[in-house]
Amino acid sequence: MSNYFKQYPNSEGFFGEYGGAFIPPSLEVEMKKITDAYHTISKSHNFIQELRSIRKHYQGRPTPVYYCSRLSEKYGGRIYLKREDLNHSGAHKLNHCMGEALLAKHLGKKKLIAETGAGQHGVALATAAAYFGLECEIHMGEVDIKKQHPNVVRMKILGATIVPATHGLKTLKEAVDSAFEAYLKDPENTIYCIGSVVGPHPFPMMVRDFQRVVGIEAREQFLEMTGELPDNVVACVGGGSNAIGLFSAFLNDDECKIHGVEPAGRSMEYGENAASMTLGTPGIMHGFKSYMLKDEKGEPAPVYSVASGLDYPAVGPEHCMLKDNNTVNYDIINDKEAIDAFYELSRLEGIIPALESSHAVAYALKLAKEQPQKSILVNLSGRGDKDIDFVVDTYGLPE
Ligand SMILES: *Cc1c(COP(=O)(O)O)cnc(C)c1O
Repeated sequence: MSNYFKQYPNSEGFFGEYGGAFIPPSLEVEMKKITDAYHTISKSHNFIQELRSIRKHYQGRPTPVYYCSRLSEKYGGRIYLKREDLNHSGAHKLNHCMGEALLAKHLGKKKLIAETGAGQHGVALATAAAYFGLECEIHMGEVDIKKQHPNVVRMKILGATIVPATHGLKTLKEAVDSAFEAYLKDPENTIYCIGSVVGPHPFPMMVRDFQRVVGIEAREQFLEMTGELPDNVVACVGGGSNAIGLFSAFLNDDECKIHGVEPAGRSMEYGENAASMTLGTPGIMHGFKSYMLKDEKGEPAPVYSVASGLDYPAVGPEHCMLKDNNTVNYDIINDKEAIDAFYELSRLEGIIPALESSHAVAYALKLAKEQPQKSILVNLSGRGDKDIDFVVDTYGLPE
């Protein structure tokens, strides 16, 4: 097992044929510096101890594994949740943001820079910056700033500066350009913090490593609760960070089937979903090679999902490798199935899930019906408070 993590990624950042760093020379130099520093610092006693202490006393880890008795009774199977919704700030994202910010501190950086689309990554990073007393600059498309007002307010309360990206379509892609530009102006004092297992090497590796805590805890907790390993593990896949965090602990367990769930959105037509692995083809964007959804010019295609954290036209390179070598089964769930699962979990268990996580829950409900004798461990990546107004306004309340 430990061999897997030494082998992937290789020293150039490749997971099989995916990943790497397809970036301008100026950025290449900086990424190499971060990679070298990460390898040294992340193995140091101080770093490991400090991260361990933060996870326990600040984030509230370990988060529990919970058995859903009413949901299991209704659908069959034995459904368990890894409760990342109870991680501080309400989602798994803080796991890698605290890691990235701790690395920044050890590197003597003064400022964290990142892009954000829906604002979830921005809020998690602003939280980490406040904890460490670092400056935080979040780049966000002008259109998204208007759409995601509550998260913009949260970031401001936490002390972050919001930089609007005002060119092009004024959404995520422009925010990425703007953030990289700002980072390259002062790489000495700043560090770019990516929000998932995507982007150029070393980010898919670092973010994976910081998220592994989810799988390590869950595997141990599940064994302790049931005396065996789960028959199935399930997680939603946007960029793929919460999924790889859980999956990484089960890659060697042949008896355990691993399922990644992509958003099928409104339909499987062009522009109506973000099922990058199901419908995409290999290509290069945002500095790395992966399965991606492309337009006729080979540029990133427009994508959509009811869960804004899942609407990304590419996916982490490690997932692409795990798909090709059949280690993980990647499947899809559409908007409607996710909304139904959102209400089912809320009403049967008293847990309001994030719309992203609702995709994983919906898939677990399907598995439960097909395999009533089997157990299913779902990564509940985040809580749904951020989604409640949108869901009720758009879909109404069920009977
Ligand atoms: C951002 C987000 C996701 C998607 O990101 P991954 O990197 O694929 O995990 C999933 N769930 C929640 C709650 C999120 O905030």
